[in-house]
Amino acid sequence: MQYLGQVLFLLLLVVGFGFFIKNIKKLIRNIKLGRDIDRSDNPKERWKNMIRVALGQSKMVKRPIPAILHIFVYVGFVIINIEMLEIIIDGLFGTHRAFSFLGSGYNFLIGFFEILAFLVIFGVVVFWIRRNVIKLKRFNQPEMEGWAKRDANNIIYIETILMCFFLIMNAADYFLQTQSYTHYNEAGAFPISGFISPIFDGMNLGTVAFIERFCWWAHIIGVMFFMNYLYYSKHLHIFLAFPNTYYANLEPQGEFDNLESVKKEVQLMMDPNADPFAAPAEPQGEPEKFGAQDVMDLNWVQLMNAYSCTECGRCTSSCPQNITGKKLSPRKIMMSTRDRLEDVSKIMDANNGQFVDDGKTLLNDYITAEELWACNTCNACVEECPIDISPLSIIMDMRRYLVMEQSAAPTELNNMMQNIENNGAPWQYNQMDRLNWKDEN
Ligand code: SF4
Ligand code: SF4
Repeated sequence: MQYLGQVLFLLLLVVGFGFFIKNIKKLIRNIKLGRDIDRSDNPKERWKNMIRVALGQSKMVKRPIPAILHIFVYVGFVIINIEMLEIIIDGLFGTHRAFSFLGSGYNFLIGFFEILAFLVIFGVVVFWIRRNVIKLKRFNQPEMEGWAKRDANNIIYIETILMCFFLIMNAADYFLQTQSYTHYNEAGAFPISGFISPIFDGMNLGTVAFIERFCWWAHIIGVMFFMNYLYYSKHLHIFLAFPNTYYANLEPQGEFDNLESVKKEVQLMMDPNADPFAAPAEPQGEPEKFGAQDVMDLNWVQLMNAYSCTECGRCTSSCPQNITGKKLSPRKIMMSTRDRLEDVSKIMDANNGQFVDDGKTLLNDYITAEELWACNTCNACVEECPIDISPLSIIMDMRRYLVMEQSAAPTELNNMMQNIENNGAPWQYNQMDRLNWKDEN
């Protein structure tokens, strides 16, 4: 009976981390469904990019108010969880504030955590108001209906509740310390919860100790829940923003990747010295399929992008096609890709890890040709994304499939491509007639 609390705590850790590891394995399996792409080049530049964009949040500062609030929530939440280490040690060994031997350093840390907890609460309350009261446009577009909206609010509620448990736990602990109650030795500084602790004045000390324990357990159970909820949430970016920015495309954004086999053929067509009767070169490393019809045709970085998307809508709010009312939202492109990947994952789970054709594809069932052709390839979405996601790369791969596998480009584009093939220019007239205009009066 003496060790019941410790045994229950160990059980909680095993179950919490067990599910977490299971979800991480599933995440890696799903990302690996994508085609291979080599992003092992230039590691120094990649580390720099990750530190600048993911850790330094450099692309967030373009919009300063949400940037500051996000830094409160992000830094606060991550740093406060360092305290989890102490909670785990206390839980396993039945100690009280195991790191208190650090003395004034410990007092500083606890005081710092409390201020951060307060800033987290302040940040999430403002976030909630922006989403639900002010109803900012980018949080209330069609793709944000249903689960996406609930998910964003759920995280706000979970973070608020966790921080409240943290502060009430400290307030009760501090109160018990001042009363020299049993093992509650003096440890820590409580600049925020010190203002809460007077509510316990006159209360039975056993009851205060129960409140302290209740909040302690609720806090750790909440953290375990949050950790396992992440897989189903847009908040996977808490982890994935780092690999996402490390493996980002470092080439100039306007540069498209060409298919080598096609590039060679075009170069041959345009080379005036090429022998038109020469046997065509043997295709080397030609893909089985041109472009992307389904998630398995995208590369693994694009699939990781889909899991990393924060659904912030910065891309959509700067997309000229979305702004002018076209049926295109780069955020929705990322969300649909993740939805399809999750559906594929569920099919695999139900079939011993094998994918069984369900008659659906990313193209048409999740993303329509109308959305794809609405894009003008301006790159504004890529430029805006705070974690270096490229919705455009998915759009281009899917368009490539439409054109090269299905010849399903819009008529205007088909005409233009036909003209390029026949006349070497997008216009309808023969190359020989190109300079006729100069003879006209
Ligand atoms: S590249 Fe396409 S999707 Fe991205 S902002 Fe421009 S038009 Fe919108
Ligand atoms: S793609 Fe980037 S900018 Fe667009 S919603 Fe996702 S995280 Fe935000």
